[in-house]
This record gives sequence, structure tokens and C-alpha cells, in this order.
Amino acid sequence: MDIRKGEQWRCQNQECRSEILVSTSSHAQGGSNPRCSCGEIMKKPYVRPELITFETANVAHRSFAASAS
Ligand SMILES: [Zn+2]
Repeated sequence: MDIRKGEQWRCQNQECRSEILVSTSSHAQGGSNPRCSCGEIMKKPYVRPELITFETANVAHRSFAASAS
């Protein structure tokens, strides 16, 4: 399990929901996820890169239409 600088990890405990921002890249031993101070494992939130691409294209289209009129 690679932990990279800049990633956000979220506690899986619904009553805790702590989030951490990784400040130093590391490689966890044993392939296990990092653990929160409450004892629950932490996971990276699911990221959808295609959604980011769509929104970026949409903004570019709008700015083009504004400059044309
Ligand atoms: Zn927690």
C-alpha cells in the first residue's frame, strides 16, 4: 500500500470520519491501510478522473462562447 504526499485518507468509522492529508510519502508495511487514532482503518476516497475532465471541457466551451458574442 503506497501512501503518497498530498493524498487525503478518510476514517471508515461513521462516528469518527476523521480525514488526514498526507504530508510525507511512505510505504506501509504488510500491505495494510493506515489506521486512525480511533483504531479504524483509513481509506482513500474514490476519485473519478473522467468527471474532472468533463467539467474542465465544459468551462472551456462556455468561455469560448462568451468571447465569440
Ligand atoms: Zn477514526
